[in-house]
Amino acid sequence: MARKSFKCTVCEAEFLSGNWFGCCENIALKHNVAPKTFYSESAQNVQCLIKPQYGTNPQTGVSWSTPGKQQRFFNGQYTTTDPEEQEKLEQVLAGGGLITYEKYIDLKTTAEQKAARAMAETKEANRLLAEAKDELARKQAELEKLRESVPAEVAPLAPDAPVPSLASKRRTQPSV
Ligand SMILES: [Zn+2]
Repeated sequence: MARKSFKCTVCEAEFLSGNWFGCCENIALKHNVAPKTFYSESAQNVQCLIKPQYGTNPQTGVSWSTPGKQQRFFNGQYTTTDPEEQEKLEQVLAGGGLITYEKYIDLKTTAEQKAARAMAETKEANRLLAEAKDELARKQAELEKLRESVPAEVAPLAPDAPVPSLASKRRTQPSV
């Protein structure tokens, strides 16, 4: 496989994949490239893809080191100008460990749509609940009204009591 060629945005040198260092002729300085954003479905740290590196400048004998680098995805996104990271993240992407921008937008939209739908459903459920409560309150009011009117009409009578309505009606009727 041919090594990929990069162009440094700092020193403008063209360099091949693997020749990450040597920016501005400094053996310990890494080249930089145009920023590239990667997308993750889980929005987790992918992993530590760049291991610490150590070396010695053959001319001066001075040793150098670079720290390892972890890719911290924020909100499922990670942008880097490090060509080595870009290359490794491309490999992760190709292996299915990351997702494309299109897929990312698609998932995000789907998530937003789902949230909107859930919100609408909750509103509808609350509306139905409010309606049911109104209905219940109305029924209770009707029942209350009925309860108030019942005792006057069918008050329980004492066992020996004469039937007042009939008796009084008879009494008030003129005798023939
Ligand atoms: Zn450079």
